[in-house]
Amino acid sequence: MSNRTYQFATKAIRTGHNRTNEQEHSEAIFPTSSFVFESAKDAAQVFAGDKPGNLYSRFTNPTVKAFEERLATLEGAERCVATASGMAAVLTTCMGLLNAGDHIVVSRNVFGSIIILFEQHLARFGLEIDFVDLADMNSWQAAIKPNTKMLFLESPSNPLTQIGDIRTLADLAHANNSLLVVDNVFCTPALQQPLAMGADVVVHSATKYLDGQGRAIGGAVLGSNKLMEKVFGFVRTAGPSMGPFNAWIFLKGLETLSLRMQAHSANALELAAWLEQQTVVQQVNYPGLVSHPQHELARQQQNDFGGILSFEIDGGQEAAWKFIDSSRLASITANIGDTKTIVTHPASTTHGRLTPEQKQEAGILAGLVRVSVGLEDIEDIKQDFSRSFT
Ligand SMILES: *Cc1c(COP(=O)(O)O)cnc(C)c1O
Repeated sequence: MSNRTYQFATKAIRTGHNRTNEQEHSEAIFPTSSFVFESAKDAAQVFAGDKPGNLYSRFTNPTVKAFEERLATLEGAERCVATASGMAAVLTTCMGLLNAGDHIVVSRNVFGSIIILFEQHLARFGLEIDFVDLADMNSWQAAIKPNTKMLFLESPSNPLTQIGDIRTLADLAHANNSLLVVDNVFCTPALQQPLAMGADVVVHSATKYLDGQGRAIGGAVLGSNKLMEKVFGFVRTAGPSMGPFNAWIFLKGLETLSLRMQAHSANALELAAWLEQQTVVQQVNYPGLVSHPQHELARQQQNDFGGILSFEIDGGQEAAWKFIDSSRLASITANIGDTKTIVTHPASTTHGRLTPEQKQEAGILAGLVRVSVGLEDIEDIKQDFSRSFT
């Protein structure tokens, strides 16, 4: 199907579906490790790249390709490379695009495993890393060195929902011959399209909203053909590839992405406004609130404000744990981006390994609770949460 003339929701449902001779209505799954050829000559031509075709599912698989085409059109990317997880997407981006001796500047407020990947693993291979504050443009500027090759951020940030100024950071990156990489997991392309704002690469954990129902682990890297050729070169050789079953789940997830993100955002905004009125709640972090210090920037770069919020409750960890344990509806888990509402205590889970000073500096206070607002009826969520407030 031609993508040019269709709107987002249509592309999310129709792109990448090339029927087989069976004329299947839903996308076919190809659970096969390898593919056969008509003749020895045919095999030689496909291997040489002179003829299109599938060789081996570490390189290409039709179900995975359909997912890649669909997500690429939604992000406005020339090409998408699917990966085994969101972390594999970040690793693959670095392996494809960086060299030993390169310097990268990373927002301090990124997903915890990304910090560990950079600090404990990639640093051993000669990558230089500096961490900066997402919302402080001066600290980005000051961190740039002659060998800086990449700026990396996530916006909104987890769990405080700070916003990174994507356009300004893209200009800063390009003025210094670097790439801007944006982790778009919290917004998805339904709410934010970083490439259109100047970012060079988008990374995804498909595990979260792209699936949206907590069924599988996967990821993706998106950008220009030129950059993705390098990223794909690493994936096809090293093998952090997506399997066909997972690709099928994500394909089906994308079909409802637009609707789900609107509904998550509507529920989250209502819950955030309601939380602000609760006397035991000190502060609510949600970019959709007028009280959010970067509300205007969020409005400029996002279509809506997403499903993640956090709030600080009076009484520190004891009160936060009591709140979490009193809920009968919400799931206690560290995941996000699900139809089911999830509550997390960042200070003792996702950010538990930080020292008390680091927690203070990062704003991960003992009374902070993160909510990934699901698609249950909002009145039921409020009712559930009010149990521990009374
Ligand atoms: C979960 C997550 C990742 C990592 O993805 P996995 O699929 O768990 O490997 C990266 N970035 C963000 C923002 C995430 O929430």
